[in-house]
Amino acid sequence: MQITGEMLIGGASVRGADGTMFAFDPAHGTALEPPFGAGSADDVDRACGLAHVAFDAFRAAPFETRARFLETIAENILALGDALIERAHQESALTVARLEGERGRTVGQLRLFASHIRDGRWLAATIDPAQPERKPLPRADLRLQKIPVGPVAVFGASNFPLAFSVAGGDTASAFAAGCPVVVKAHPAHLGTSELVGRAIQQAVRACGLPEGTFSLVIGAGNAIGEVLVAHPAIKAVGFTGSRGGGLALMDIAAKRREPIPVYAEMSSINPFFVLPGALAKRGAEIARGFVDSLTLGVGQFCTNPGLVVVLDGPDTPAFVDAAAQALGQKGAQTMLTAGIAAAYANGIAERAAGADVRALARGADTDAKSAGCPALFATTQQAFMSDPRLEDEIFGPTSLIVTCKNVDDMIALAEHVEGQLTATLHVEADDVALARRLLPTLERKAGRILANGYPTGVEVSHAMVHGGPFPATSDPRTTSVGAMAIERFLRPVCYQDLPAELLPLALQDENPLDLWRVRDGRLGHG
Ligand code: NAP
Repeated sequence: MQITGEMLIGGASVRGADGTMFAFDPAHGTALEPPFGAGSADDVDRACGLAHVAFDAFRAAPFETRARFLETIAENILALGDALIERAHQESALTVARLEGERGRTVGQLRLFASHIRDGRWLAATIDPAQPERKPLPRADLRLQKIPVGPVAVFGASNFPLAFSVAGGDTASAFAAGCPVVVKAHPAHLGTSELVGRAIQQAVRACGLPEGTFSLVIGAGNAIGEVLVAHPAIKAVGFTGSRGGGLALMDIAAKRREPIPVYAEMSSINPFFVLPGALAKRGAEIARGFVDSLTLGVGQFCTNPGLVVVLDGPDTPAFVDAAAQALGQKGAQTMLTAGIAAAYANGIAERAAGADVRALARGADTDAKSAGCPALFATTQQAFMSDPRLEDEIFGPTSLIVTCKNVDDMIALAEHVEGQLTATLHVEADDVALARRLLPTLERKAGRILANGYPTGVEVSHAMVHGGPFPATSDPRTTSVGAMAIERFLRPVCYQDLPAELLPLALQDENPLDLWRVRDGRLGHG
């Protein structure tokens, strides 16, 4: 499939007339062909207008059609073959193996949502039958189901050009809910965005859905995204990226005449606690596993372990040495963009200059362009608690080992950190009492708690939570990965005393969709 540099607005390919943009190859420092035409507010208005028009027809389509739509997108993405992987590799400098894995995850995610739609439990169909004889007042017939919120704006992240981008988790879950989607392409992977966008556009056509079900707009700078979030047709926003970007979009959404929710996944340092029993038994092994997790994908994961917490004890120096040695063997690699590499270099230079911070190790530098060189630092619990800058996310392959004098200090640190996507515990049998003390705090702080593992692998499944309290996300009640992500784009409607012929299929007495439903408070097939 040819990359043309056009936007996809409904069924049309449209060349933006508001300037020219290029995708960039960070490994070679060169612009990539073809030029992209940047879109304007008028283009956003047209995409949102089409999404508004498409909404009722798209949500009324049989669930089977919606499920097939997601499966067709998955098939179309796979049919793009090596061309998609090659372009994503050029634009992101991520390895081919990593991108192939990410494509598998993206396709798997679309299929998970297809099966989730067919399952129907997401409708939360609930029936409280009328009680005409109830005293002193009769009860009306009350029936509840969830419906989609309306057109959704999606902002993908730079670090997952497939799984958190045009056909990523936000788009898949919004489509699954029955919401049309307008994606604002990430400037770091414009060509990848167009290829995947065309795969979706073709699926819209093949499944006979209204053209406004999907649009892809591009633009230079923040303006186009701001116009998109402010557009009255948009009813919710999915975002993955920086804290500043997420907060800016939340601000726009809150100031609209009709404020709307922004589901932003932003910043997390993912504390990694190695408890004393685990340190004694597996210290060196944990140190190596931690460094592998930290440096995977040049550390460009939102679940990167950016903070390691240990108790000062006889096994601590060996753990710190093993981590420093493992990190020293890792090399610098090209990061996603020159801007991200510059932000990383500034971040580690500032950290190295910190008065109470010890530089433990650096990876081997290379002359690769826009490279991020692994760096490991250490500090004490007291220093960490008194300097908020030590808690800032530095996006890239760096981490800070914090040593605590005693268990109370470790618990105080857990209490002190901001909201996180993950918290990891390394525990052995003799650590259980301490782990029990930490858990209530970690539950309040993080969306996912892992034991004896590494946080940088996020399974796409029913029980996954990729979320957490601010600043990990803007709304800790939900997730951006896994089946529950659909909940962000649904809202409940109650139907009171509606005649049978007006009731939605999911709530009719005969249960024609054969759903699990709650009837009079009990779950069953009735
Ligand atoms: P980003 O700069 O926040 O950009 C994400 C998307 O939002 C882009 O499409 C960007 O478009 C748009 N955007 C950002 N700020 C905006 C604003 N004020 N108004 C309108 N649109 C806005 O994130 P990124 O490029 O993926 O990475 C940059 C930094 O984000 C990293 O250094 C890292 O700190 C963080 N990050 C975090 C995660 C995570 O999962 N927590 C993932 C990736 C990155 P424009 O650039 O065209 O404005």
